[in-house]
Amino acid sequence: MKYVNPYIIQAYLTCPREAWLEYHSISSYQDQSLLILGRLIHETSYKRDKKEVLVDNLLKVDIVRDELVAEVKKSSRHKKAAYMQLAYYLYYLKHEKGITTKGLLLFPKERKREEVVLTEELEKEIEKLLGDIENLVQKESPPLPRKTRYCKKCAFYEFCYADDGE
Ligand code: SF4
Repeated sequence: MKYVNPYIIQAYLTCPREAWLEYHSISSYQDQSLLILGRLIHETSYKRDKKEVLVDNLLKVDIVRDELVAEVKKSSRHKKAAYMQLAYYLYYLKHEKGITTKGLLLFPKERKREEVVLTEELEKEIEKLLGDIENLVQKESPPLPRKTRYCKKCAFYEFCYADDGE
């Protein structure tokens, strides 16, 4: 199975078209953040200090020793995408680095927290997601645009709706 940039997972859960477009525009460095993450995990295993990885201005992952703590900066509307992204990190660390750890999602604005445990069920969900994404990005063209509440803030808005006259 192929790993993808964590951002593709997040994009896929909000708009498959965006995931396709992102994948094909960033594919040359798509594995970089995973490589960086793997290296940081390795380094922090031996130190007490905290390292921070910022993913797409949405998910900030702190690595404290072997623990992953992610803060969801926006509202819990983005929860599913953030949850799956953190679960994907846990999956990657387990299978690629041999590190089994838990994750913690924090929603500072809403004063909520949620533990993310990589259960067998969640692993299957990640594998299905990766399979679905792989099928999607192998297609020659992206799915047609579908207007959602995410469109206005999307980097591809002009590209998708250039002819709309909006
Ligand atoms: S503008 Fe809307 S339809 Fe187009 S990629 Fe972005 S979210 Fe998807």
